[in-house]
Amino acid sequence: MPVYEFECGKCGRREEVFARSMNSPVTAPECSCIGEERTVMERAMSPFARHRTMQDQVAEAEAKYGKEVDAAMGPTPEVDTHARRYDQLAKDLPPE
Ligand SMILES: [Zn+2]
Repeated sequence: MPVYEFECGKCGRREEVFARSMNSPVTAPECSCIGEERTVMERAMSPFARHRTMQDQVAEAEAKYGKEVDAAMGPTPEVDTHARRYDQLAKDLPPE
């Protein structure tokens, strides 16, 4: 569920608004901080979008799940052995 963050231009108060989906419209909340007139809050960048780059996310995911993935994948396949075997098989193939 996407989260939109709105910020009041007058007092800086922030409010999070949950949207049903990425495409559903979000109504900007109003802030009643100053005076009787309500201030419509403006979209603020989500702190996640602002601070987390793709690289950060990958690094974070790796730190979190790296060991599990390694465990699930099992030991590193013996690439050399297989490479040699395919080499041998290739020699046995009839010429094109
Ligand atoms: Zn306000």
